[in-house]
Amino acid sequence: MEADNNKQPERKTLDDRNKMTELERIRHSCAHVLATAILRLWPEAQFAAGPPVENGFYYDVDLSHRISPEDFQKIEEEMKKEVKANHTFEKVVVSRDQAIEDCKKGRLAALAERNIESKFKLDIVQNIPEGEPISYFRNGDFIDLCAGPHVMRTGNIGAFKLTHVASAYYKGDERNPQLQRIYGTAFKNKTEMEAYFNMLEEAKKRDHRKIGAEMGLFALDTEYVGPGLPLWLPKGTAILEELEKLAKETEFAAGYVRVKTPHIAKEKMYLTSGHLPVLYAESMFPPMQLKEKGGEDEIPERYYLKAMNCPHHHRIFAAEPRSYRSLPLRLAEYGTCYRYEQSGELFGLMRVRSLNMNDAHIYCTEEQFAAEFNAVNEMYLKYFKIFGIDKYIMRFSTHDPARLTGSNAKFVNEPELWKKTEDLVRQTLIDSKINYVEVPNEAAFYGPKIDVQVWSVIGREFTLATNQVDFAVPKRFGLVYKDRDNTEKTPLCIHRAPLGTHERFIGFLIEHFAGNFPLWLAPEQVRVMTIGDDEKLVDYAKQIVQELRAKEVRAEGDFGSDKINGKVLRAEESKVHTMLVIGPRDMEAGNVSVRLHGKGNVGAKPRAEVIADLFEKIRTRAA
Ligand SMILES: [Zn+2]
Ligand SMILES: [Zn+2]
Repeated sequence: MEADNNKQPERKTLDDRNKMTELERIRHSCAHVLATAILRLWPEAQFAAGPPVENGFYYDVDLSHRISPEDFQKIEEEMKKEVKANHTFEKVVVSRDQAIEDCKKGRLAALAERNIESKFKLDIVQNIPEGEPISYFRNGDFIDLCAGPHVMRTGNIGAFKLTHVASAYYKGDERNPQLQRIYGTAFKNKTEMEAYFNMLEEAKKRDHRKIGAEMGLFALDTEYVGPGLPLWLPKGTAILEELEKLAKETEFAAGYVRVKTPHIAKEKMYLTSGHLPVLYAESMFPPMQLKEKGGEDEIPERYYLKAMNCPHHHRIFAAEPRSYRSLPLRLAEYGTCYRYEQSGELFGLMRVRSLNMNDAHIYCTEEQFAAEFNAVNEMYLKYFKIFGIDKYIMRFSTHDPARLTGSNAKFVNEPELWKKTEDLVRQTLIDSKINYVEVPNEAAFYGPKIDVQVWSVIGREFTLATNQVDFAVPKRFGLVYKDRDNTEKTPLCIHRAPLGTHERFIGFLIEHFAGNFPLWLAPEQVRVMTIGDDEKLVDYAKQIVQELRAKEVRAEGDFGSDKINGKVLRAEESKVHTMLVIGPRDMEAGNVSVRLHGKGNVGAKPRAEVIADLFEKIRTRAA
């Protein structure tokens, strides 16, 4: 059984509960049905928490019988009975004393009173803040301590399935008992559930680790390089450089300037930015101690690998005097950052420790903010179009006013600036009619944040890019510009990374295209193949390869004496976008036969026309 690294979500506030979607209600209700079924089979089971999670739900259970997937059918049969019985989810509000008494009688998360107390529920009751209402939900004989919400009746759970079991400590704390976490999912109806499992099947086929290895895009060498530090092979690098080219062209046209900064900086940098000593320390690699030669009594300096590019860019802002005339200043860099992700959380290209970021920081005045912020959003939309991303949403994360001070402080203590900036961002989003949702308590420590979620062509969700507003860190670095009235003012800073990191974005693109990249992105764009290995024919084919390569088209040749069918098969397997097949007759007529990956033969055409067409498609980044 695998340990579950997912931390237990924080206790939901009333507000969170009201915001639960219908699907989340279905899924959470299904957790009650799961517990009901388990109790029918093992009446001594003890339950802890059973929240909805991404793509489903779980319920943590303490039981001496080890539940395995072989038990799922049996449990699902019992669940079906409970759904068929169509019991109402009936809410009962009780006093704290009543709840404690019922826990002691073993009546909560149970079908009847038991001679063992409902120990986890008792602990949960005792930790419900004074004054918060306590309620039960009842379906049939099963009574659970729960604040809701649920669907009306068990029969509203249209379709469900148990998926896997993991182990998890009670409250995510390893000093607590280890429980069995039973995962499942539920949907409005069977059709939606089938679509979901088909999507997972398809995602498995499109797994970026599998296709990445088959196509030779990247390698993970944990023995010599280290976990989470991908090596980009030539074919992966080709994709990566095309993305950089796109970003550089787009940013140049939008008035950005490019900069280049080192991978390390002194501790002072991150103490000033506020990433150290606490807020971001866990995500940074440990420091290097350096003592400069000559200074005997010198205290060693601590250097850190950069986990973000912003502080370096702030120092570039500070490197020259700035006036309102030089704003907005848009500093762009494909910066390589290093983040210390827990080894259990590393995953292919999606979770790594070295990241190539499509980064930029825009320094602007308050008056310029709306236009700059809009331009960034426009840039996102432009990219989505190029990559054929039809479905996206922007998650606007705001701060929690209760966490500005004290031991659980999470955000810089600037209540007015928070309000002002959040209002500004919200208004800009509303005005631009962008599809967004607001998420409280998930802002960056220095300002509100927008995460962009996109769906791949098979319907799987990815968080790819961010756009953040920073009203705090420029001030901490003492960044100023001279305004019209000769006073010194602090600029606002927009952090944006529309293409996210190469690692995650390419991971997404591999799934999105199933490795069948459009011509402009394909690692091998063209392969020229000869029918046979006649010397004159090979010379003619080589000229074509040369003509393409002279214009930076990634073209290769396959001129061996083996049969053309074998050459085509090899090229198809390598997902070469365009295959140019040349036989003696093609040569005489000045033609080439064109074959497209996955689409087959599209016929013979004059050589010049084919080549011009390739150039044009690449130039326009056609789909
Ligand atoms: Zn519930
Ligand atoms: Zn930044």
